Amino acid sequence: MTKSDISKIKHLLSKPKQIVIIPHKNPDGDALGSTLALYHYLNLSNHNVIVISPNDYPMFLKWLPGEKQIISHETETAIANDLITDADVIFTLDFNALHRAGDIGPVISEANGLKILIDHHQQPDDFASYLYSDVMMSSTCEMVYNFIEMLGDTSLISSQIATCLYTGIMTDTGSFRFSSTTSTTHRIIANLIDKGASNVLIHNNIYDNNSFDRMQLLGISLKNLKVISRLNTAYISLSQKELNASNFKKGDTEGIVNYALSIKGVKFAAIFIEHKFERIIKISFRSKGNFDVNDFARKNFNGGGHVNAAGGRSDLNLSQTIDKFLSLLQNNSAMPKE
Ligand code: 5GP
Ligand code: MN
Repeated sequence: MTKSDISKIKHLLSKPKQIVIIPHKNPDGDALGSTLALYHYLNLSNHNVIVISPNDYPMFLKWLPGEKQIISHETETAIANDLITDADVIFTLDFNALHRAGDIGPVISEANGLKILIDHHQQPDDFASYLYSDVMMSSTCEMVYNFIEMLGDTSLISSQIATCLYTGIMTDTGSFRFSSTTSTTHRIIANLIDKGASNVLIHNNIYDNNSFDRMQLLGISLKNLKVISRLNTAYISLSQKELNASNFKKGDTEGIVNYALSIKGVKFAAIFIEHKFERIIKISFRSKGNFDVNDFARKNFNGGGHVNAAGGRSDLNLSQTIDKFLSLLQNNSAMPKE
């Protein structure tokens, strides 16, 4: 985002506007943290601001400041569509392609409002009027912090904004341990604590709110874990039956793939989750080092994301999907061998 973009956006936002802010489908901590932080920030200047989520999100995010004001496109489709269509400004946060916003994608595409994208995923599509895309960033929350800073408004960061931004940076960096975490990330986190983000409360709300059912599901996942030492690879599968047996709720599988990646020597991890209703297998990929899972997911599983964290899907059944994965591993010269 250039200085001239920033001054144009500053001018645009100098008068009250109808603004909608949209995260990706199945929003995670970074998607919701960034949209809600921006929501609180823009609300300070007399705009009419609405956050519209494509669909529901996990319980462990249902405490974020402002979360109750979010409109779900899934349940309030007509209202949400009108708001997007009538908006002067549409912010799209934490996604790089309109299809990542599910059924909202075509509505954004048709809308006349000025579109501002803020995102850190690889290879952003060209749908926005202003593009703030930086794949080196730890999170969209870190970028929203920078955006507020570029607008000269860090003094306006409230404890609510700080809490939302801290949450997204924390969840997208695996609690500040992924390689995308820089000294600047830590400096921003320090500033956010000074502005009123409670690190203890946020860690508790996100990580220490496990249900018994989720722990049971984790047990099943770890039992299903397979390791291919020769290829420094580990993977987990979960069938719909197994999900049902532990009363699966949205968000329960979040982070489970990291257990596979945490095994000594493993540099590439995957989790395959059967969604019987949607007739797809949802896949998460994680890597350490140079193996590019964004590329792997894009080429083979209709997905994408970042170099070390990406997602994708398969229309084959669970065992066929795993077979496809295993045969790709055998034939992939870029696999992380020791
Ligand atoms: P997760 O595995 O946690 O769902 O996603 C990991 C990363 O990849 C996130 O940044 C997420 O936004 C991105 N991602 C997940 N699924 C997809 C997908 O199907 N397509 C694309 N382009 N990105 C995805
Ligand atoms: Mn993100």
